[in-house]
Amino acid sequence: MRLIDEPEIAAFRAALIKWYRRTRRPLPWRDGVDPYHIWVSEVMLQQTQVTTVLPYYQRFLEHFPTLEALAAAPQQVVLKCWEGLGYYARARNFHKAAQIVVEQLKGRIPDQYADFRKLPGVGDYIAAAVQSIAFDRPCAVVDGNVKRVLARLLELEAPVNDAAALKIYQQTAGRLLDAGLPGDYNQAIMELGALVCRPQQPQCKACPVRHHCGAFSSGRQQELPRRTPRKEIPRHHLAVGVVRREERILITRRPENGLLGGLWEFPGGKIHPGESPADACRRNIQETVKLQVEVGRLITRVRHAFTHFKITVEVFQCDYRSGELALTGPAEARWVTREALESYPFPKVNHKIFPLI
Ligand code: SF4
Repeated sequence: MRLIDEPEIAAFRAALIKWYRRTRRPLPWRDGVDPYHIWVSEVMLQQTQVTTVLPYYQRFLEHFPTLEALAAAPQQVVLKCWEGLGYYARARNFHKAAQIVVEQLKGRIPDQYADFRKLPGVGDYIAAAVQSIAFDRPCAVVDGNVKRVLARLLELEAPVNDAAALKIYQQTAGRLLDAGLPGDYNQAIMELGALVCRPQQPQCKACPVRHHCGAFSSGRQQELPRRTPRKEIPRHHLAVGVVRREERILITRRPENGLLGGLWEFPGGKIHPGESPADACRRNIQETVKLQVEVGRLITRVRHAFTHFKITVEVFQCDYRSGELALTGPAEARWVTREALESYPFPKVNHKIFPLI
């Protein structure tokens, strides 16, 4: 690790903030200092690129212009608005947090890190980002961009994807933070990571802090940051049915907690080893909604990648034969028309199926 002293840290901060003020992207959440707008943007920006977030941010604020409007909305409406953005627990927790702020805190978003950090879905990153940008609290953010910049700048050898190394990055970020301008400083270092100190081919010649950068002076930009090798991501094989009964289609809602919680899907489940996809489709429907169906043609096969696993889904056309709906797993089930399907919040993978139904 490269050591830098206080005068160099001060020069680094000044160069970074000067660059940021000159070149920052005009993003809508940077227009004002409404803590709610800042909170919305930071919840969306976790694990997600700015270009993906922009249309969702606009749409979200059109639907829920205030924290009160968000708190008063049904969860299904919030999830529909979030549909396609992924990591749906963010939306569910944000919604719960909004309700707590409105009902228990008189609608005032806490302006102290410790109080804000207690709200559902508010982790270290969100807490530091919102508190520094909205309330000028001296809290340093640490996200993927910041870790990469710090690793290169100070030649930190700790792997950026190692949970045990997070403390090192948090301490380093705290030491470099400009406590007088925490909001600008945090946005500046994240912006540097997003635009200049990119994962591949960092733009060192255009970098405002290259004179302070250890990796630049030692030529180690491509070597840093270090990462521990990822375990191979497993792939799960699923079979689901688009079950028709007269003119309606069966959809089920996933339980609140867990992956894709609260979203709707077509009934089905995992294919056991040695089982045919069609048999797995029939069995899973029988087990989860207690209906007997006739499994027809394969409509499509879709693939999708989540953070920790991938799925391949065989989608079958099915016809209802007998039985009464009884749920073991799904939170809810409904027979809906084809037209009504798309008014429900579904995981992204289902949108590959809709045009084929
Ligand atoms: Fe990143 Fe290069 Fe700037 Fe160093 S000089 S911070 S490696 S872009």
